[in-house]
Amino acid sequence: MQIKIQFRLVIFTLLLFLFSFSTSAQTPRPNFNRVRTFDVQNYIIRTSFNRLNKTVYGDTTVQLKPLKDGFKTFELDAAEMRFESVKLEPGNIDVAFKTSGEKIYLTLDKAYSPTELISLRFKYSTKPNKGIYFVDAEIEDGKTIRNAQVWTQGEAEEAHFWFPSYDFPDDKATSEQFITVDKGETAIANGELLEEVENADNTKTFHYKMPVPHSTYLTSFVVGTYSKVSDSYKNIPLGFYLYPGQESVAQKSYGKTKDMMRVFEELTGVAFPYNKYDQTIVANFQFGGMENITATTMADTEILFNPPEIVEDLVSHELAHSWFGDLVTCRNWAELWLNEGFATFMEAAYRERMYGRDDYLRKIREDAAQYFVDDAIKKSRHGLFNQLARPDNSIFDVTTYQKGGAVVHTLRETVGTENFWKAINIYLNRHKFQNVETPDLQKAMEEASGKDLNWFFGQWVYGGGYPKINVKQTYNAATKRLNLTVAQTQTIDKITPRAFVLPMEIEITTAAGTKIEMVEIKKRVENFSIKVEGKPTKIVFDKDEKIPLKSVKIQPLIMVKAKG
Ligand SMILES: [Zn+2]
Repeated sequence: MQIKIQFRLVIFTLLLFLFSFSTSAQTPRPNFNRVRTFDVQNYIIRTSFNRLNKTVYGDTTVQLKPLKDGFKTFELDAAEMRFESVKLEPGNIDVAFKTSGEKIYLTLDKAYSPTELISLRFKYSTKPNKGIYFVDAEIEDGKTIRNAQVWTQGEAEEAHFWFPSYDFPDDKATSEQFITVDKGETAIANGELLEEVENADNTKTFHYKMPVPHSTYLTSFVVGTYSKVSDSYKNIPLGFYLYPGQESVAQKSYGKTKDMMRVFEELTGVAFPYNKYDQTIVANFQFGGMENITATTMADTEILFNPPEIVEDLVSHELAHSWFGDLVTCRNWAELWLNEGFATFMEAAYRERMYGRDDYLRKIREDAAQYFVDDAIKKSRHGLFNQLARPDNSIFDVTTYQKGGAVVHTLRETVGTENFWKAINIYLNRHKFQNVETPDLQKAMEEASGKDLNWFFGQWVYGGGYPKINVKQTYNAATKRLNLTVAQTQTIDKITPRAFVLPMEIEITTAAGTKIEMVEIKKRVENFSIKVEGKPTKIVFDKDEKIPLKSVKIQPLIMVKAKG
């Protein structure tokens, strides 16, 4: 997912009016996982609509296996659905059920064991206020500007508003969809389009199959009147779905998709994991884009009206989720940074390959700047591991995205570029089609680099905030020593460290030239005495911007007069 650029601009605007530093202590919540008693294998979702009263007719088969013997009663997530029937297949056996809140509670005919596949078919209707969104046609002076649409949004937990499911990221299943739409409309969904069938009632049914297991929230469809522009990368078909008459946008907005796939394959060493990649624009989308597996959805306003560099970042961000988010998926919402921090970092990684290091650093610097502003106006802090995570839109924030991206950059600089990509390759291959947590990433980084990274993950992932450094400098011409008093002045709270560990390159300029001095800052207040031949005219902390998430104030140089 990408946060809309408008939203980001709001944050910048807020800076002009508000600049207060406030942090409040938060209690870390260590376990965000959900208890699961079964393993869904496959969903078959058949969907049709009454467009006039915005009703969805659903017919979903959930195929699951128990995790333990004696499996008879269980629950699925299902919100605001009117169930016509729940049957066990084959045999068409009625299943006793009751609904309450956002759940359906089921009692099977007998106890089942983990070797048995249970196939349950649900028929229902719903008028969802989440999960599926109906968009009316746009008509001006009797002329249709844009046809009506119906589309889904699953993340964080909205899939269970349109199909009964285990709606949490830690269970991956394959999926198959049959979507019945008006003749003349197109349905775009996950995986391969197997067939389009014309029905007698002037409707058409699209049949898609996603043969690779994925988390529930990545299940999606888009229905509307579209013109498809096709391309390919290696043997992977690429589809760009635009409104009729706007086909020329495809090359401008999506023309680099192939380059991005190649760059991401080269960097990660992992081939694009699926058999197609579609990108579709929709109206009234809440976010910039959403990485529905093999079928990314994007806000039409973002694609049609934003400057090319913003569109490029959106396209590369969503594509990067094919590896970070869709192939390996955060186990729970507290670990969302493993999806979003990486997708944000990959925007910069693509830029580095295409336009060079300066453009890469510009992007990282901008992400860091957004985080500083957000942190200044936000009432509470959380780590990249989000101790405040709730299953709603509050988790899609600047800490998880922009700070996440900047921390991934610092991680890369800490372990070295070669080790970093080696670790990414280990991490992706080891956990592909599964879920991940921060320790999985840490382990891969430690293996590839041979370094202990507890300190790094402790302060940058589980901790919060960022270091604020104040430097006092004196130079003694007699002893030729530059004395630096480095104080960390960040306000301490439950997750913000009293002292960050900061391996820091200091560039010192004198009349004779420049030299780099490596120091490791690790205390609240610390002195460093450095031999410097001649009066320093300038010092720069972290010239190569390895640690963008910091503020540094350097006081003017004081000369110490030699006495006597
Ligand atoms: Zn994203």
